[in-house]
Amino acid sequence: MATLESLKRALRQKATAAAVGAKQLLSDAQYSAGYDAFTQGRGWVTYQDFIVPQLSQLLTPLVNSRVHISVLEIGPGGVSILGYLPDHLRRKIKRYTAFEPNGLFATNLEEWLRSASGETEFPLPSLETAPNIHQIPFIVEDCGENGTSIGIGLGDDDKYDVVLFCHSMYGMNPKHKFIRRALEMLVEQSQDGLVVVFHRDGLYLDGLVCHRTASFPTGEIRVVDDDEALDSFSAFIAGFTTQDEAVQAGWRDVCRSMGRHEGAPCQGKLVFSAPEIMAAFTRHATALPELTAEVPLADGDRAVKNREARFHRPAVTVRPTELRHVQYCVQWALRHDVALTVIGGSHSGHCLWPNVVAVDMSYFDQLRVVVSEEECGEDSETLILAGAGCKAGDIVRKAMEAGLTVPLGARPSVGAGLWLQGGIGHLSRLYGLACDAIVGAVMVSMTTGGIVSVGCIPSQHRPAGAVPPDAEETDLLWAMKGAGTNFGIVVSVALKAFPAPTYSVREWAVPLHDNLEARNKIAEFDKSVAGELPRNFSADAYLYWTNEMLHLGVTMFETSTTGAGSQECTPLAMTISSILGEQASFKVVNGAGVFETEMYMSGMHGGHGGGKTSSFKRCLFLKNIGEAIVASILVAAVESRPTPFCYLHLLQGGGAVRDVAAEATAFGCRDWDFACVITGVWPRNQDGTEAAIATVSWVYHVVGELLPTSCGAYGADLGPDPRDVPLIAKAFGQNLPRLARLKHGLDPRNVLAYACPLPMEPMEPKLIILVTGKSGAGKDFCAGHWASVFTNHSLKARVVSISEATKREYAATAGADLNRLLHNRAYKEEHRPSLTAFFQSQIQHRPRLLEEHFLNVVYSTADVDVLFITGMRDEAPVATLSHLVPDSRLLDVFVTASKKTRHVRRTFCDQDIGVRIKDSKDNRVGEMAEDGKTALDYSPSFVFDNETIGHGPAREYAERYLLPFFGQGLQQLTKMVRSVPDFLRLSIQFRHVLGISQHTGGLALCTSLLESHFDGDWAKVGVVACCEAGGFVYAPPLAVRVNVPLALIREAGKLPPPTVSVAKSPSHISSSGPSAPSERIEIGRDAIPSGSSVVLVDDVLATGETLCAALQLLGKVGIGTENISVMVVAEFPAHRGRERLRRQGFGMVKIQSLLVFGGA
Ligand SMILES: Cc1cc2nc3c(=O)[nH]c(=O)nc-3n(C[C@H](O)[C@H](O)[C@H](O)COP(=O)(O)OP(=O)(O)OC[C@H]3O[C@@H](n4cnc5c(N)ncnc54)[C@H](O)[C@@H]3O)c2cc1C
Repeated sequence: MATLESLKRALRQKATAAAVGAKQLLSDAQYSAGYDAFTQGRGWVTYQDFIVPQLSQLLTPLVNSRVHISVLEIGPGGVSILGYLPDHLRRKIKRYTAFEPNGLFATNLEEWLRSASGETEFPLPSLETAPNIHQIPFIVEDCGENGTSIGIGLGDDDKYDVVLFCHSMYGMNPKHKFIRRALEMLVEQSQDGLVVVFHRDGLYLDGLVCHRTASFPTGEIRVVDDDEALDSFSAFIAGFTTQDEAVQAGWRDVCRSMGRHEGAPCQGKLVFSAPEIMAAFTRHATALPELTAEVPLADGDRAVKNREARFHRPAVTVRPTELRHVQYCVQWALRHDVALTVIGGSHSGHCLWPNVVAVDMSYFDQLRVVVSEEECGEDSETLILAGAGCKAGDIVRKAMEAGLTVPLGARPSVGAGLWLQGGIGHLSRLYGLACDAIVGAVMVSMTTGGIVSVGCIPSQHRPAGAVPPDAEETDLLWAMKGAGTNFGIVVSVALKAFPAPTYSVREWAVPLHDNLEARNKIAEFDKSVAGELPRNFSADAYLYWTNEMLHLGVTMFETSTTGAGSQECTPLAMTISSILGEQASFKVVNGAGVFETEMYMSGMHGGHGGGKTSSFKRCLFLKNIGEAIVASILVAAVESRPTPFCYLHLLQGGGAVRDVAAEATAFGCRDWDFACVITGVWPRNQDGTEAAIATVSWVYHVVGELLPTSCGAYGADLGPDPRDVPLIAKAFGQNLPRLARLKHGLDPRNVLAYACPLPMEPMEPKLIILVTGKSGAGKDFCAGHWASVFTNHSLKARVVSISEATKREYAATAGADLNRLLHNRAYKEEHRPSLTAFFQSQIQHRPRLLEEHFLNVVYSTADVDVLFITGMRDEAPVATLSHLVPDSRLLDVFVTASKKTRHVRRTFCDQDIGVRIKDSKDNRVGEMAEDGKTALDYSPSFVFDNETIGHGPAREYAERYLLPFFGQGLQQLTKMVRSVPDFLRLSIQFRHVLGISQHTGGLALCTSLLESHFDGDWAKVGVVACCEAGGFVYAPPLAVRVNVPLALIREAGKLPPPTVSVAKSPSHISSSGPSAPSERIEIGRDAIPSGSSVVLVDDVLATGETLCAALQLLGKVGIGTENISVMVVAEFPAHRGRERLRRQGFGMVKIQSLLVFGGA
């Protein structure tokens, strides 16, 4: 199937060959007919699946920050795409101008914009003025052929929030000048105004850098296969018309020979490939000189290995030669809200992206062999420190000098992308994946441009100024192992080294006469060859077609660190030769020699196209390749290859790859037998042609066939191609939600937008409730009933025990029966002492084990609305854990029951054992007193007295206290909090909490929610206290509502004496200013009668500085913490305010927040 671009070339060639004299420009009617022929059929799919969603996504932040927007559209045709946007976006457009030179289109557009009938409203319903349609082309004054002016000036009224070119740039050259002109027409004060282009051919805009770009490679155009339609269509594509009938007939033939036929000849449709690209620009599009003045440009001669990437013309490629250059790139990208790509070994298709700045890391190619220090927390071991510009071959050769190696891939030229995303090679079964060997890394942060040193980097090799990551140390190292291209620009990694082996390499080539033999041979190879190999062996299989016959090729690598290979005549060797026949070759090589070994396939087809081929690969993980269904798909895949060079490469897994738990590293797919690389190959001279397109389609077709039988996908080289979406969903197994949260936190501006795409939205349950209490109190019973209350209200709820992870690990280590450990009380009791000892020893080695378990539970249940976690320790879990799930609301409910009731329940029911860190069962400080009141050393969110028999009280409790978190009121309130990116400080998503009061009814709604969500008794509250300034907005109307007097806390010096005061550090927002001195706050000494119960109200809880000072102040006027409750409108758990308050001695103060927001 030809692309429109190649069709255009062919049509023009035909006209040139026929020496067509009079080429005429298309009249409006001819243009319109051609356009109609063009847009019929499934061309709409491109709009529906790409243009409308992309445009909606781009416009959403803009409309959220504006009351209305104005749009200028260039060449919309007879109908604007804006009319197909979602309702809430269309309604924001108040002013619409268009340049549409085609008279017919312009008239249609006018009519369409005015068309509304009974049920359907106007396409743009909120226009405040009549649409302004200029029936002239949009031209740039200094390159207009006839000097026509564009007809509008540049007065304030002629500035727009959005300028849109939707398939209208075809005749505009040079295109960058038109974009520059459009940029000048954006509203001046705004930084987020957009120029958006949708275009069908490649789009390179000299000297401009785009804000975002996306592609839709599967776009297609369908044309009715009849003469009339083809005449209009071919003239439209060629860009001119002719009266020469011979040429017209020739054009029809060209269309019919190049298009794919769908339906019956001359009745059906002709299909052409029409890949689509979107590029969006802001005012920052012209900021490149600022970057290139600071960071050296790459040498134009650097060959990017990946041929697909070479089609992507970056805005520029810079080649940093100092760490500060890399930092500057990131800071520049953050400042201008643009993305970057990073070039390592340049083997992937995503290291370059059109109109995006590429950062070539090749200068950072230093390698060192070092012995790790004690500070790394490991036994002394040898590490290889590798710069991000190193290639696999460099590392192996350097390590070999010290008798060592690192498990990497099969080819020497592959770069950092391999070890950061996985790295499967001949040593994987023996030593693990390449990413498993990473023990530390130096990287440039995507939030600040600062240098971060994560994990183990020996101190003398840590760059000056490198700091540990904020709070994400464990997470970041975890993420580097499999998803490491997504969180920062990696400058170097520390890799654990292993003894270097020698390799005995054996090859076989087995011809397969028919499909049945092929399936049987695959099954035999799987079960009796690969399945029997010890872990120092690894067998790669290839399915390929040569000499008109399907073949199974096998390369077996036997590694030995003693130099001795196994004997030829072992029973296994005999079995192998009985299955695979005579060995085709045998050699013994070292690590460098393995790289030198010709790839198995390179000998095929006369040297595999003379080596002049291009390829495209995707990789799935498979188990049981011998199973009939899997083997049949594999065989059918090779049979349907579009070029003779395509093949399947199966790399053996198991061994050390499987030893690591799926959730222990970001590389979440561990339990597989083979990584199946579906390898599409075509002659290099056919790059960009139909043959290349068909081969890539074949790869995705095979992926689609195999995906249901696969147990994961390899994340390396997946990119922002819609066809990769199903693979990404399988790439990281259960780790995907955790990675999404990290991406959200560590690259919030999506600077690394073109690496393996991770979801940008956090994927956590909305409400997480920790159910705590003593053994026998009925935690599981309550959690189960509470979950069902939510389920009855159509919310997805689940109960999970956090202690399961420990039991699982214990069972694996101690050889206990996991099933009985989970479900059989007596068995559990029997193992309790050793289970407790096991947990305690684990926690000594992994101090963040509880957090890890908590996160694993949260992210394995990300699909639910409400998650109940039982089996928790009881130590102020909300204060210690909420920052880990900043986008969720985390609560704890402490379940109580009398000693007698608990004893009865323990005797007759099967209760969870819980996980306790320090104390044995009943002697903890402050657990339950017999009268049913808590005497904990912290204040849980809620306490439920589970003394009564039956589920009624538990369910009523959930209806009264837990369900309201999903109430309409809170949802309404959330919508009133406007979000403003980068306000006050770069990377801060400022939430305008005080802005609630600026909404009609906002203050009333907020105060009524503060009143109803307070779980104490207002009648017993003596005073509502509040701090200047946020508290002053919300506390007074609340105090009026509940009829309680106010106590005001103000800056020192603003209240008349007598007062008491305390020092207060600035808040995290105000501390962002240039000077942020600490200040004092004060309260009237007699403002609160002693012994009163006080509710302290504030707008925000972030770091807790303000609340902490206010609580100290209340203490100074004689109010004990047991008499204070705090209510805030919004909480930002990322700043760990609750933890600070607890550390400062305010753990007993009950804190309630109406809203919870992630981020800063
Ligand atoms: C011929 C060939 C053989 C291969 N053999 C194997 C194999 O044996 N085993 C295996 O597991 N895989 C193999 N692969 C797949 C390979 O791992 C991926 O293509 C990998 O992405 C290549 O990394 P690169 O650095 O060479 O490519 P690049 O295209 O330069 O980088 C790949 C990705 O990593 C990102 N990246 C690179 N450097 C950095 C950095 N410093 N910081 C942050 N992000 C960075 C890039 O932006 C890009 O998204 C092979 C690929 C090819 C083409």
